[in-house]
Amino acid sequence: MGWSTEKAESAAQDGPGEPGAGVQGGEQARPPVALSPSRAGDFMQCPLLYRFRVIDKLPEKPSAAATRGTVVHAVLERLFDAPAAERTPTEARAMVPGAWEKLLAERPELAELFADDAGGERLATWLAEAEALVERWFSLEDPTRLEPAERELYVETVLDSGLRLRGFIDRVDVAPTGEVRIVDYKTGKAPRPQFAEGALFQMKFYALVVWRLRGVVPRRLQLVYLGSGDVLTYDPGEADLRGVERKLLALWEAIQLATRTGDWRPRPTKLCGWCDHQAHCPEFGGTPPVYPLQVRPADEGGEQQGRMGQV
Ligand code: SF4
Repeated sequence: MGWSTEKAESAAQDGPGEPGAGVQGGEQARPPVALSPSRAGDFMQCPLLYRFRVIDKLPEKPSAAATRGTVVHAVLERLFDAPAAERTPTEARAMVPGAWEKLLAERPELAELFADDAGGERLATWLAEAEALVERWFSLEDPTRLEPAERELYVETVLDSGLRLRGFIDRVDVAPTGEVRIVDYKTGKAPRPQFAEGALFQMKFYALVVWRLRGVVPRRLQLVYLGSGDVLTYDPGEADLRGVERKLLALWEAIQLATRTGDWRPRPTKLCGWCDHQAHCPEFGGTPPVYPLQVRPADEGGEQQGRMGQV
C-alpha cells in the first residue's frame, strides 16, 4: 500500500499523560515535536490545556465515555478478523465484554471507573450501552460487504516546512479503482450543521497526511456517528487540503512560540466543565505547575494572540 506505518513509539510524545504519569513524576519535559488532530484540537480549544497535556503531562482521570469509545472501536476493528458472513450484530455485541477485559488488563487503572460499583450494576449498564452503540453501526454500514485495506492505521508524514503530522485512522477503504475512503467512528452524536466544519477538521488532517504519503487525495472522508446514527461525508479537493496545511502551519508556529516563551493562555469556554485541570488553571483560581522548559523572552509581544486569530 505504501503507507508510512513507522511504529508509534513516539506517538505518545504529543499525547496526554497517562494517569499517574507526568513530568513531575521524574519524566523529562520535552518541547512538542509533532502535531496530531487531537492535540491540534486541544490548542485551538485552549492553549493552556495543550500545555498541561503535552508539556506538563498532567495526569487525567479516566472517563467512562472515552473508555466506552475505546471498547467500541476495538470491537469494530476486530470484527473484520472474522469471515464476512460472521460479522453480525450478535457476534459484535458478544465481543464487547471481552474487549473491555482486554483493555482493563492493559490499563488496570481503568478499574477505578467502577470502584464504587460493588453490585456491578453500573458496569452492566455501561457494557449494555457499548453493545447498543456497536449494534447501531449495522444500521449505518454493512461490514459483510466491506474489506478494509487498513484498520487503526498509524500514519505519519513530514511536510516540506518540517512540520511532522501523525495520527491513527480508524479505517481505510480502497476501491478497485484505487479511490481511497477514510472512515472514522464516533461514539457521540453528530454535530449540528454549523459545527460540522470542526468535526471535519480531523478528517481533513488525515486526508492531508494520506495525500502527502501516497500522492493521491482521498476521494471521500466519512464520519460514522454511532451515538445518533448519522453518517457525515465530505469529498475533499486539493485546495481544501492546502488550506488545512496552511492552518496547521499557523497553529504550529503559535505552539512553538508559546513553547519558547512559556506564554500559554487559558481560553475559558463551556468545555472547561470537562477539563481535569481546573485546580491548575488561573481561570478557576489555580496555579499552573512551574514551567518545565527553558523560557526565552518573546520580542514579538502579542504575536501569539495575533496568530491565534488566524488559526
Ligand atoms: S479549565 Fe478551561 S481555561 Fe482552564 S485549562 Fe482547562 S480548558 Fe483551559
